[in-house]
Amino acid sequence: MSNVPEIFGCMVFNDAVMRQRLPKDVYRSLTYTIQTGKTIDVSIANVVANAMKDWAVEKGATHYTHWFQPLTSVTAEKHDSFISPIGGDKVVMEFSGKELIKGESDASSFPSGGLRETCNARGYTAWDPSSYAFIKDKTLYIPTVFCSYTGDALDTKTPLLRSMDAISDQALRLLSLFGDNTATRVSTSVGAEQEYFLINKEYYDKRDDLLYTGRTLFGTPAPKSQQLEDHYYGPLKTKISSFMHELDEELWKLGITSKTKHNEVAPSQHELAPIYVTTNVAVDQNLIVMEMIKKVAERHGLVALLHEKPYAGINGSGKHNNWSLGTDTGKNLLSAGKNPASNTQFLLFLAAIIKAVDDYQDLLRLSVATAGNDHRLGADEAPPAIVSVFLGDELEELVEAIVGETDYTDKVRRTMDLGVPSVPTFRYDSTDRNRTSPFAFTGNKFEFRMVGSSQNISLANIMINTAVAKVFRDFADTLTGAPDVEAAARKLIKETFKAHKRIIFNGNGYSSKWPEEAERRGLLNLKTSVDAFSRLTEQKNIELFTSFGVMSEIELRAREEIMFENYSNVIDIEAKTMVDITNKKIIPAIEEYIGALSRTAKDKQSVFGANAPVGLERRVIGDLSRLSEDAFNTAERLRDAATHAASLKDFREEAFSYKEKVIPLMNSLRKTVDAAETLVPESTWPLPSYGEMTLKQ
Ligand code: ADP
Ligand code: MG
Repeated sequence: MSNVPEIFGCMVFNDAVMRQRLPKDVYRSLTYTIQTGKTIDVSIANVVANAMKDWAVEKGATHYTHWFQPLTSVTAEKHDSFISPIGGDKVVMEFSGKELIKGESDASSFPSGGLRETCNARGYTAWDPSSYAFIKDKTLYIPTVFCSYTGDALDTKTPLLRSMDAISDQALRLLSLFGDNTATRVSTSVGAEQEYFLINKEYYDKRDDLLYTGRTLFGTPAPKSQQLEDHYYGPLKTKISSFMHELDEELWKLGITSKTKHNEVAPSQHELAPIYVTTNVAVDQNLIVMEMIKKVAERHGLVALLHEKPYAGINGSGKHNNWSLGTDTGKNLLSAGKNPASNTQFLLFLAAIIKAVDDYQDLLRLSVATAGNDHRLGADEAPPAIVSVFLGDELEELVEAIVGETDYTDKVRRTMDLGVPSVPTFRYDSTDRNRTSPFAFTGNKFEFRMVGSSQNISLANIMINTAVAKVFRDFADTLTGAPDVEAAARKLIKETFKAHKRIIFNGNGYSSKWPEEAERRGLLNLKTSVDAFSRLTEQKNIELFTSFGVMSEIELRAREEIMFENYSNVIDIEAKTMVDITNKKIIPAIEEYIGALSRTAKDKQSVFGANAPVGLERRVIGDLSRLSEDAFNTAERLRDAATHAASLKDFREEAFSYKEKVIPLMNSLRKTVDAAETLVPESTWPLPSYGEMTLKQ
């Protein structure tokens, strides 16, 4: 085992490296840019580029890449080497400020939702100095933003950075109303807990569905899966443990504070949590985490599944986006302190967030809407598709008291005494855990739990930041000029809690009563992704994003179109994969077994004559023949339905056709094939079983 503090961040061009390698004035100017977001001078960039290159080459790098986050696939990169010919058949390693700042690439193969005509294929990547460059695979990775020739954002990072500025500006206004003028920046920070499955590569290779779609499209549940709840926090198997150790080391080298790891609820499911950082860095780091999980798994003969629902009937994977607000002077603005009831500033921030979640439920819902996540949300394992806020008993009581103008005394934290003298006593947390809530207050942060495991967390954070910025702005407008800010704020807090109490729900989000109750409260229940996508371009939302310059109307329309298209593409691939596997693998296997049974029956008849005991063969042959024929017919209808959906010109109609016409046929085909699986011997069935995949890592 290496020395952790020594290897930590050794592959990152971080502050310590900059301080050591850059001339003082350049270092100062760069850190100023990083902290304030001000534009960097080209002469400075030249010096930085050269220092980066020298550092990277010393560490064995030969190439550099502008690393960016296009609108559907998770990350993109194009590698250039540092070499530059100097004549006489010789080369030197070079990297200029211009190359660091700007990259140009053909954007035509990335989704643009009509933002870019194919004739205007040019796209630009631009250095994001607020996220450190790093080395991976002998390549210097430079985090960048990605935009079109006309300056429209073609990525997820640009709007994220804009949303971070928006919330900072408005939070600072509120702080200054409370007399705090020391902070110059309010940052949102995020800690993203990542869930994933690991499967033995040998099984993975035999499953075309996993290969093409990331999830199993067929398969009957194993006799044992998660009923005994013995996997959650269970001891790590040796192979998994060595995988995790190596993963930690790789992440530490890249300066990612991988902190917690454990087995999850489902068999072969695991989780990794890093320590939180500033949002855009957290996004970049989460993307690296996902990639590293896959890479390191391969080295251990495993394959990592990041899909939201790799296995039917077994819990899927999500990502908990822990989010909070802090000042550059080190204050967490969501920390209630000992006396929340008298902490007006805290209550105001809390009220604003509650209002933001209520007013923009649709945006939060839509930020996690993908074909994959549709299998999870509302399926008794993940929060429902209904957005609500969990505050915990203590704060909920306080909210009630403020609304009802009744007395409230701050709770004295109870001390936990287990009655075992050798076990030290400790204090209770002020909130218990509520795993069923989509947006839960957990001490000094909110945990947004609806995000899918394979998603880029940018969109969710863009929504949270912008919606909250909007309410901060309204509040600051209201309070500015008030003769008694404290009193005016108290009034505003009360009105806000009163108007938005409906979004607070401390009960069981998995209960079947909740959707009814939510409907009575007038909360949105956008059950599937396609019900949610169009909300992006509703007038109130266009106004929200354009008023802060986070996204233009054109950028919003493009994103809506891409969401629909992505959904359709995913379902189309799944449908085609099912047809393919059915015709090429499942039906031949069933027919083969029918043949074997028929031969056995014939053999028996040659021994016993007309009274041969062939009841079993008859029954199984009959059942399998029906199932085989049914599978064949359904696959044919499925193929036709997918072809029809794909032919529709309107992207909304197309997606709805996939949802309403294609998915039901997929479900029906699966049912037929799964029924056949239970009758065919394992040696003949062409796909590894659920038991093998989930229990034999
Ligand atoms: P819990 O036990 O509630 O899950 P943890 O302390 O394990 O909380 O933290 C879960 C995640 O939340 C970690 O990634 C952690 O770094 C992150 N986190 C903790 N505090 C904050 C904060 N102030 N802002 C954002 N994320 C945070
Ligand atoms: Mg958590």
